[in-house]
Amino acid sequence: MREMYGVRRFAVAAGSEPDAEPPTVAMQCAVCEESSPAVELPRQHAPGSREVARRSAAGWVRQHREANREHFTYRLVKTHPYRLVPGGWM
Ligand SMILES: [Zn+2]
Repeated sequence: MREMYGVRRFAVAAGSEPDAEPPTVAMQCAVCEESSPAVELPRQHAPGSREVARRSAAGWVRQHREANREHFTYRLVKTHPYRLVPGGWM
C-alpha cells in the first residue's frame, strides 16, 4: 500500500485579525538580559497612547538601574503578531 501526502505552501503575514495578539514593547537590559514586563500597545492610534506605553516600559529601566548600578545599556524590544496564511498545494 502506498500513501501520498500533499505539501502546502504557507506565507508569513502580519496578523491583523481581531483576535491577533496585541503588539507589545518591553525594555531589556543589554548587560544581564533581564526584561521589563511587556506593555501592550493599543491597536487604535489614540494620540499619545504609544508614547504612554513606551514610557511605562522605560520606567522599568529606572528600577533596574537602582538595583544594578553598573548596567547602563538597554534595548527596546517590540513584538508584532504574525501568522501563516495557507496557500496552494505543491
Ligand atoms: Zn541588567
